[in-house]
Amino acid sequence: MASSKKIAIVGAGVAGLALAIIATKQGHKVSLFERGDKVPTLGAGVTLWPNAMFVMQQMGLDNALRDRGGLPSMMCQFDPQGVLQTEFDILAVNALCGLPSVTILRRDLMDLLMDTVSSLDVNIRFNLSITVADVMKLDREFDLVVGADGRMNSVVRQTLYPDKVMPRYHGFVNVIGVSHQQESFQDNAISDFRGSEQRFGIVPVNGGRCYWAGAWNAPIDKHRPQSDWFEELNQRFRSWPNPVKDVLQNSDSASMRHIFVHDIDPLPFWHQGNILIIGDAAHASLPTSGQGACQALEDAWHLSLMLKEEDEVASALQNFYHQRYTKTSAAQMVGRQLAKKFFSGQPEPLLPATHISAKELSHFWMQGLI
Ligand SMILES: Cc1cc2nc3c(=O)[nH]c(=O)nc-3n(C[C@H](O)[C@H](O)[C@H](O)COP(=O)(O)OP(=O)(O)OC[C@H]3O[C@@H](n4cnc5c(N)ncnc54)[C@H](O)[C@@H]3O)c2cc1C
Repeated sequence: MASSKKIAIVGAGVAGLALAIIATKQGHKVSLFERGDKVPTLGAGVTLWPNAMFVMQQMGLDNALRDRGGLPSMMCQFDPQGVLQTEFDILAVNALCGLPSVTILRRDLMDLLMDTVSSLDVNIRFNLSITVADVMKLDREFDLVVGADGRMNSVVRQTLYPDKVMPRYHGFVNVIGVSHQQESFQDNAISDFRGSEQRFGIVPVNGGRCYWAGAWNAPIDKHRPQSDWFEELNQRFRSWPNPVKDVLQNSDSASMRHIFVHDIDPLPFWHQGNILIIGDAAHASLPTSGQGACQALEDAWHLSLMLKEEDEVASALQNFYHQRYTKTSAAQMVGRQLAKKFFSGQPEPLLPATHISAKELSHFWMQGLI
């Protein structure tokens, strides 16, 4: 059994909060630094597939999550006229994994994680934007410094890669939001409407709520007002069939955002000495992978396991990288391949929701966990 460590975590997103919970429960002394004045709830919702639910179960939060979320049973793919193209049986993959898949609004997931952190002995500081110089200072004061500070401007990643890792834009914008579910909605099915170079996905949660994302090819334009993006969203999708139309009409405008989604290339290392990056800072993938938050949760669990098995921090971090690299890189590549298929502008026949069988998918998701 390894000794208790002093751990500094930069960023209270999914990865940072999950690591704070698991590491504190394992007896480590955790300090968490977040630049915002509270945990961020940006983003409409996430689907936590069985690999993420495995980690939630390890944290003792799986039941609370199920209470707050939805339990999708199918993924249905439609053309823009609403004609069903393919169905994918989520329950079959869940059965193979031995765990459910749960959909949840981002704010509900973050509240659950934050409530748990608050109930533990974690020293949490908000309104503190850590700089590269701060990271060096933390490195002297703590046994381990973990950068869970996100995909775009991770300062901890910058200390490892002073020449900067440049996040990549893949040419499509995502407009996301939360709506109230209408009658036309199948409440246990994730719906994926695919047109030429544009896509609209709807994910039911619970209590009549769903989250959704419309995506299409667009260059980055930081000067264009948010309202113009929303107007374009409506123009593009308002003639699409229900439930797309309903969802747009019943959207909570405060929940809507447009995001120029970037990912990063797989990195040759995630640590130096006792400084490590995890989550999106280490291996951000496109939303088309559906695995960003799931992999962030897995990171927290694996890192805690490595720290339990190996007392020397640098060796534990090396083991962590070897354990995690293949799976996270695969998620990054899957995200890119799917994005290319949806948005590359080369007409392709409509593709099934996923090309791989339930057995292959369950094997990928649970790899390294059980
Ligand atoms: C549209 C969209 C849909 C998605 N859907 C899904 C999905 O269905 N399933 C899924 O698994 N994933 C999904 N993802 C991906 C998922 O949201 C991310 O992978 C996940 O949030 C990454 O968590 P993280 O903790 O690594 O980073 P983040 O959640 O970005 O958290 C980083 C934190 O660090 C803080 N921070 C940054 N810099 C500093 C600093 N200098 N000092 C202090 N604090 C700092 C930030 O304020 C933030 O709180 C989606 C992403 C997008 C964009």
